[in-house]
Amino acid sequence: MMRQYELVERVQRYKPEVNEALLNKAYVYAMNKHGGQTRASGDPYFSHPLEVAAILTDMNMDENTIAVALLHDTIEDTSATRVEIEKLFGEDTARLVDGLTKLKKLDLISKKAAQAENLRKLLLAIADDVRVLLVKLADRLHNMRTLDHVSEDKRFRIAEETMEIYAPLAGRMGMQDMREELEDLAFRYINPEGYNIVKQRLVQLAEFNKDTLAEISTTLTTLLADNGIHASVKSRQKKAWSVFRKMESKGLSFEQLSDIFGFRIIVDDEDDCYRALGIVHRKWTMVPGRFKDYISTPKSNDYRSIHTTIVGPSKQRVELQIRSKKMHEIAEYGVATHAIYKDMPLTIDEEPSEKTNGKSDSYAFRDTNAYAWLRHTIESLSEGDNPEEFLENTKLELFHDQVFCFTPKGRLIALPRGAIPVDFAYAVHTDVGNSCVGAKINGRIMPLVTQLQNGDEVEVIRSAAAAPPAAWETIVVTGKARSAIRRATRLAVRKQYAGLGNRILERAFSRAGKPFSKEILKDGLEDLAFKDADDLLAAVGRGELSSTNVLKAIHNDFRSDKDTAPPHPELMGEGWFNLSNATGMMFKFPEKAEGDEVHKDQTLSIRGASGDLPVRFSPEGAVPGDRIIGIATPGKGLTIYPIQSPALAAYDDQPERWIDVRWDIDAANRTRFKVQIVVTAINAPGSLAEIATLVADNDVNIHTLSMVRTAPDFTEMVFDLEVWDIKHLNRLLSQLRESGAVSTAERRNG
Ligand code: MN
Repeated sequence: MMRQYELVERVQRYKPEVNEALLNKAYVYAMNKHGGQTRASGDPYFSHPLEVAAILTDMNMDENTIAVALLHDTIEDTSATRVEIEKLFGEDTARLVDGLTKLKKLDLISKKAAQAENLRKLLLAIADDVRVLLVKLADRLHNMRTLDHVSEDKRFRIAEETMEIYAPLAGRMGMQDMREELEDLAFRYINPEGYNIVKQRLVQLAEFNKDTLAEISTTLTTLLADNGIHASVKSRQKKAWSVFRKMESKGLSFEQLSDIFGFRIIVDDEDDCYRALGIVHRKWTMVPGRFKDYISTPKSNDYRSIHTTIVGPSKQRVELQIRSKKMHEIAEYGVATHAIYKDMPLTIDEEPSEKTNGKSDSYAFRDTNAYAWLRHTIESLSEGDNPEEFLENTKLELFHDQVFCFTPKGRLIALPRGAIPVDFAYAVHTDVGNSCVGAKINGRIMPLVTQLQNGDEVEVIRSAAAAPPAAWETIVVTGKARSAIRRATRLAVRKQYAGLGNRILERAFSRAGKPFSKEILKDGLEDLAFKDADDLLAAVGRGELSSTNVLKAIHNDFRSDKDTAPPHPELMGEGWFNLSNATGMMFKFPEKAEGDEVHKDQTLSIRGASGDLPVRFSPEGAVPGDRIIGIATPGKGLTIYPIQSPALAAYDDQPERWIDVRWDIDAANRTRFKVQIVVTAINAPGSLAEIATLVADNDVNIHTLSMVRTAPDFTEMVFDLEVWDIKHLNRLLSQLRESGAVSTAERRNG
């Protein structure tokens, strides 16, 4: 096992002014915490974090990252806590170790190949820092190197996961060596037979070509030295996995593969690359069509090198890669290299960054976008002054608008950020959402409004009898949940209307001295053109059909009071006139004075509306507490809509116009906001007086009141009100609904 001072020395080799105390402290702490724990191999457990740290020293990582590597398993596997680590090593280190602890959850999930892409996203979403990923990859590499010791089925699962998730990730981070080694190790456990065959052939071939290769190596070294080029020449053999993959994908036999052997020529600088190339081409014949200059045209992951294939002395083809030391480090360690050279020339693609149109599915790792985020980290390097600062700025901003959660069975559910357990329930299945009454998050019962975090395991608590409360529509964030709640609400509302219709008809029939039952209604269905009694009841409840007409349809001899007397004279209370004739009437109420001003400078109350963009509110109005969306109109500014506004549907296909805005209310300077409600009053003596009193008692200003529709049994009226916020409004609405004078009370926006 590596000693404490050996580790420090390794780091000192590339970073002489290393913070030794930090490394020593982390070494001792992790060693003590892991204590007598052992690995499957029987080795002391501490040998593992130590090896992970060693892998990272090969990548010249800074001491903070090395310390994180030493500590990476302590929170999960020992008595160490985040709080303790924060106290001893600072907030930054604690955050990174915590990130690695969260990633460990991933290892416990059963996986299907179809989910590999999602899992990669989750991995990136949880590891919100490049350093966490670097340590995780080193961790995985060491685990793969020591995989022999774990049980066979576990071995296969880990190898498969490495092949599907970690190796591609290393590749995407520009770490080719890491990728190749991970692939090769995984191949060995996934397809042992294939691995052994290819490996054997490679060994035979290497043995057979030993002398020729040695000859080429010597010739190259001397030739370059004679021409004054300082170079190191290393032979390299293709890895078993890449040979196997090439044979599979191109349908080639082993013998048909041409470039199993190669040399890497590493020189001091770019000029020497081209000089070396000239020397090589003059000495040996080059194979046409195999020459590639990635120095003048780097690959999108910053890879730079010259590739050429020559015909060797025994007529075998040999691939040569010529590059400078810096190019070599980038090719090997990818993103990690950027920590080493602060003056490294950067090659950032100038192509415009991909359009993020809000919530598209552009997260898929298409090759063209694979480096978008890497580019981002490179850009932050170009802004920072030193490598440390670069690593400080390596927060990944991937998928920051998504969260990934799990069902208890391990199914991965992707949701927009801000989603709550109700969204989760609907994402699993509409029935699950409709019957959701509670949720356990990571095993604990939590409020249904809790915002879900990455990696949360959510168990939905269901009740067969439940129906989703309509109010959920305003707290969920996914469209699926919203529309399902609306649908369920509509059904429930219909049921309510039918109940109300029932009440109205009961009363009307008894006033007329007729017996009433649902059975009796069947006699009138045909005349009134209704399918069934429930439809008829709901129509009466909604005021589309009057009780008088129902009576007439069933009892031919029925004559209504209306034929002789004005309808419901009892509604004409003191100061209020007959509602039945009030359609189209509008009442204006005096503005209240002092401190009750309606909000005027509405830009001030909205955050997220940048600069001096004019802001106005949609006709539906929004009040503080509403979830709101700003719709940008070129040249006109921003219009604020409550999220439930049906008018938003018109902008569904223009996601670029959706602006995320938030309330920014000054508690000291509260103002009122306009809102419209629709109240259906049951025509009964004193109804309107009762409603008006309720509104006034709730400290709500009435701006205008219009009677929009009257029917013998109902009057529908629209109130323009001024309220403080959503709580204020909801309190009024629920009191109205309780009132005997009111059939329904709804906010007007669907
Ligand atoms: Mn580990």
